[in-house]
Amino acid sequence: MQNAPPDAMIEMLTKITCPECDHKAVEEMPTDACQYFYECKGCGKILKPLAGDCCVFCSYATVPCPPIQAARIEAKHLEAKHLEAKGENGKSDSSGAP
Ligand SMILES: [Zn+2]
Repeated sequence: MQNAPPDAMIEMLTKITCPECDHKAVEEMPTDACQYFYECKGCGKILKPLAGDCCVFCSYATVPCPPIQAARIEAKHLEAKHLEAKGENGKSDSSGAP
């Protein structure tokens, strides 16, 4: 599915793990907002994002929030375009290490 719009690749569900009690819960994320607070359903603790993270999902969940996913997808597209511009189609024997 090469022609799928970027939106189709954004995952709305994420599994968040409480750092206090290790309780795991699947949550649906808001598409257009970051959730700063999350109340653990296991122990009731109010989770907050770690320093540098925009929301609790980025800090504690398996899938980051939709705005971050969109940014990553866009970055990948830009990277792909950049590679095309360099004329490097297909795989070469370079390692690709950053
Ligand atoms: Zn908890």
